[in-house]
Amino acid sequence: MIRMQVDEILKDEKSYRADQVYKAWFDLRMNSYSEITTLPALLREKLSKLSWLAVKEKVLKKSNLDNTQKAALELSDGKIIETVLMGRKSLKKTGEKARYTICVSSQVGCAMRCVFCATGIAGFCRNLLVQEIVDQYRYWQGHLGDEAEIDNIVVMGQGEPLLNYDNVKSALNTLIKYANVGPTKITISTCGIPAAMDRLVEDKDFPQARLAISLHSAIEETRKKIMPSHQRGFFNFLLDWAPRYHKSLPSRSHFIGIEYLMLKDFNDDEKHLKALLKLCSKIGRVRINLIPYNIISSLDGGRWVLVGSDKSVIERWHDTLMKAGFVSTIRYSQGQDIEAACGQLSGKLSVIPAKDGIQKGGR
Ligand code: SAH
Repeated sequence: MIRMQVDEILKDEKSYRADQVYKAWFDLRMNSYSEITTLPALLREKLSKLSWLAVKEKVLKKSNLDNTQKAALELSDGKIIETVLMGRKSLKKTGEKARYTICVSSQVGCAMRCVFCATGIAGFCRNLLVQEIVDQYRYWQGHLGDEAEIDNIVVMGQGEPLLNYDNVKSALNTLIKYANVGPTKITISTCGIPAAMDRLVEDKDFPQARLAISLHSAIEETRKKIMPSHQRGFFNFLLDWAPRYHKSLPSRSHFIGIEYLMLKDFNDDEKHLKALLKLCSKIGRVRINLIPYNIISSLDGGRWVLVGSDKSVIERWHDTLMKAGFVSTIRYSQGQDIEAACGQLSGKLSVIPAKDGIQKGGR
């Protein structure tokens, strides 16, 4: 793990100093290190050379379709990442704060090159530092003010989180401790990195967040075609790994999330449904999330035109899975008009308007 700049300064101080700084990070009344008056003046002065946030807003877009916003944030080396804020529809009772989910990035770019995802197109640039992950939360918190609360985090933005294991772990532990987000309110989505998944089940300090695996097919040949990172034998690995995962986190809230992007005439026929049912019944406690495909404008006219499955097919799969005894949901996509939905985070600043007739997601 690369130490946060702030930790470099704090390493020679008494341990409670770090605690004071992190508490201040999440205190909306604070705007700079020099305001943390509980710290000695000399330490405050050293810290005040650092910027309060490791990310700077470049562009902020608001959706006209729903309560979603996407920000392009600039890092200290000029690189850009994207992060998304999603307002939840209902729930707000009188006097209660509005609640939001944020989608955070874990890397600049991505090395996985999944053919359906905009992030992979430009390739991998670098891992995000701990503070660059934490500060996506702090950025949105500052943006919302104290009228609203972020109580859900999905690590589903740009990058493959398990390839930035140490920094993601440290950032999430910081958020759990100081931002008061419960571990089961955090979901880490991965395309499945066996070495990191092995490490995770043994790692007592890894946050007890939920894990979701981007499966997209339970048939090797099909998965390999859309996910170049797929290793032969991955399903056998999953079957060996799942009982170890379940044993390490026996709580009912720690089912294994299975994500399944539904692509028309590609992975949505009976053969694929049967294969999914078979694999999931062997994995044990799973929750299957069916994902309507979000159009990637930069893929249009490219080497492969992908088409999402018809809504009726997605609903039929959902019913079949439920009847077979699985918990299954259909992902409702938000922010499609600002390319803020899953797979649409390209890191490009210009936002291309979505076309008419795009599917609006499931239920
Ligand atoms: N690298 C991680 C996290 C980033 S992708 C992973 O692979 O899981 C987050 C989720 O968005 C994954 O489930 C991914 O498969 C999905 N996704 C990617 N492109 C998409 C698209 N065009 N439409 C819908 N979902 C997409």
